[in-house]
Amino acid sequence: MSSLLITDIGSLVTNDPALGAGPLGLLEDAAVLVEAGRVAWVGPAASAPAADERYEAGGRALLPGFVDSHAHLVFAGDRTAEFNARMSGQSYSAGGIRTTVAATRAASDEELDANLVRFLNEALRQGTTTVECKSGYGLTVADEARALRIAASHTSETTYLGAHVVAPEFADDPAAYVDLVTGEMLDACAPHARWVDVFCEQGAFDGDQARAVLKAGQERGLIPRVHANQLSYGPGVQLAVELGAASADHCTHLTDADVAALAGSDTVATLLPGAEFSTRAKYPDARRLLDAGATVALSTDCNPGSSFTSSMAFCIAVAVREMGMTPDEAVHAATAGGARALRRPDVGSVTVGARADLQLLDAPSHVHLAYRPGVPLTAAVWHAGVRAV
Ligand SMILES: [Zn+2]
Repeated sequence: MSSLLITDIGSLVTNDPALGAGPLGLLEDAAVLVEAGRVAWVGPAASAPAADERYEAGGRALLPGFVDSHAHLVFAGDRTAEFNARMSGQSYSAGGIRTTVAATRAASDEELDANLVRFLNEALRQGTTTVECKSGYGLTVADEARALRIAASHTSETTYLGAHVVAPEFADDPAAYVDLVTGEMLDACAPHARWVDVFCEQGAFDGDQARAVLKAGQERGLIPRVHANQLSYGPGVQLAVELGAASADHCTHLTDADVAALAGSDTVATLLPGAEFSTRAKYPDARRLLDAGATVALSTDCNPGSSFTSSMAFCIAVAVREMGMTPDEAVHAATAGGARALRRPDVGSVTVGARADLQLLDAPSHVHLAYRPGVPLTAAVWHAGVRAV
């Protein structure tokens, strides 16, 4: 097994305060040793051990690969016309999801797989090395199970989201759809999923329906995460905390009690600024959550309707400009925060034993991710120690 030493790193984000300065554990003039797909050593370049191969980083910044803990990538078609109309004055409601449901049902397995691979590669080229992937554009037993089967062949972070919206066939009987989601559909999907999710929102599922979906998933061994408080105030965040969900996602409309509940729990507040950007909506207040002591993650919410970006760097830039985060906080949220939201201690940091998911920037500092918005800064990516970009 050959080893690789990445050295002459100008600025290294480890996300381990024991290794360097501040919450990011920043090290200057650093080196990282990679062996067998894992980080084997981290420290000053001057005292680095010998290795079979060397990569000279040329004084640039190295940081953990991004952990995108919220994405919807098994779908067909796009919604260019809807976006164009919205940017011309129409408002977003949950119902637009059904457009993608129709296109996804009509697509072949090969088409869905090819789309997913395309988006995963697009994300990888931008430094993202872990991606969560939800179902939710099938809304039949067979189509939801198919989406999760396809997702599971590319990522271990698969999420059953049969409760994305009520399937069009059940528009007049949402209770019967909840029965399907918590019954036969769950039976078909649970073997391919790690997580269970629900869109708890007006126009989607109310608190009681969301609770039924999440509890049924828990009984099948799935761990909850919740689309919560995106478009309006509601019970989603409180439900997420009550059920021990790994993450409450969106968190745009929060009461003081919601913020306190998140701060007093292990449930991560996952913020998805691409959604607010793409719907011209009010951004979540990251500063308020951080000041209260909540753990914050940043993710893309990549989906064809409300946030069609796979760029974590874009989300970092928006979070810094619009949501009150410092560049350090935003980078932490996009790496270690995402790892917490997925309960993955092996990713999101550059520490001994972690999976060697690393990205090198064409920049001297991680701050450039916010300082140089829209500029492709990814110079190289290693995924489990293998050079991928
Ligand atoms: Zn989402």
